[in-house]
Amino acid sequence: SPFAGLTPSVIGTDAPVPLDDGRQVPYANFDYAASAPCLEAVREAISEALPYYSSVHRGAGYASQVTTAAYEKARETVRGFLGARRRSSVVFTRNTTDAMNLLAHCVPSGTTVVVFETEHHATLLPWRRAVRLPAPSSPTEAVAAAGRALAESPAGPRLLVVTAASNVTGEVWPLAELAAVARAHGARIAVDAAQLVPHRRLDMTALGLDYVAFSGHKLYAPFGAGVLAGRSDWLRAAGPYLKGGGATSSVDEHGDRAHWHADPEARHEAGTPNVLGVLALAAACETLTATGWTPLVEHEERLLARLRSGLAGIPGVRELTLWGDRSPRVGIVSFVVRGWEARDLALALSGRFGIGVRDGKFCAHPFVRHLLDASVSEGCEDGRNSAVRASFGIGTTEAHVDRLIDAVASLARAR
Ligand code: PMP
Repeated sequence: SPFAGLTPSVIGTDAPVPLDDGRQVPYANFDYAASAPCLEAVREAISEALPYYSSVHRGAGYASQVTTAAYEKARETVRGFLGARRRSSVVFTRNTTDAMNLLAHCVPSGTTVVVFETEHHATLLPWRRAVRLPAPSSPTEAVAAAGRALAESPAGPRLLVVTAASNVTGEVWPLAELAAVARAHGARIAVDAAQLVPHRRLDMTALGLDYVAFSGHKLYAPFGAGVLAGRSDWLRAAGPYLKGGGATSSVDEHGDRAHWHADPEARHEAGTPNVLGVLALAAACETLTATGWTPLVEHEERLLARLRSGLAGIPGVRELTLWGDRSPRVGIVSFVVRGWEARDLALALSGRFGIGVRDGKFCAHPFVRHLLDASVSEGCEDGRNSAVRASFGIGTTEAHVDRLIDAVASLARAR
């Protein structure tokens, strides 16, 4: 294993998959950015929790007490994982999309939201009143453009919304500088960290971030649990995101008046929460922290360099990138291949080689359109509409990367 000390292993690495001709090969999963495979340690945490499987918060039975304690401990684990302040809120949601929509729900009316068009739709679309900034030509220009837009915003609350790492190019955005420019203009900053937290330590307090959102299923835990962490005041002042049990402290005789909990976690987590999903998400946070970021990052950077240089050596392959090598990257590489529609290429990688990638516009239509237009004008005529994305992480080996490079080379030659 590339990992010193603890050896996190993921479930399903090299599971047998059928090819179109009926042969079976070990699966090479290059779709971690969509949903990462589950960690073995997460499966163990879920198994340990199951004997006391019970409702949280309102039950008086022993199992409810144990489950409630575990659920609230998970909140503190996530707080530590994100380096969130003690007085910040940590609200469990379904995923990043849900977290961003919750934040949009809580933003005071009249707030100017500044957002880049390069965002994933989850982060681009929920805002009522947004200034949308075109793809910046460099990390420095991103900071300058955000500063200009905030300076020109009308008086009132301001919120800068940015991605931490792009789900299309893997490029990491200059979070500390963006946070500083937001602060300089009296704005808050909210960060979509869905693609960063599986790969890098993110410390909200050190970076000066006001809100962070992420999803458990991209962090080696199962589907259905996510997080919005950040400053409490807007969350406390807004009405409940979902109205129902758990959000109210009391309801009048006829049910037409309710007093909502002041505590943002209770107020915005109405209904029975996804307890196992939350425990799984927290177990993933603990496992990554205990492994240490250095071996994780080194492993990933070695594979990333190998994949990028391998693809660059194949005639007709073009990688999509906004900033070239001017920013750090996580394990995500999107590309187009001359003569191939992205969908056909992705299906051929699966059916002929047992390699799982994603194709399309990755829920970031304006950004992918921008990147493809740029590559079309540079003479790469194909893949006008979509690209193929290879993304990886803990279970990925050099052998997987080499299989992908060889497969792409053989398909590119065939056109
Ligand atoms: N933001 C980014 C950067 C993402 O990559 C994704 C998932 N593709 C999301 C938000 C949305 O995450 P979810 O589907 O878990 O809500």
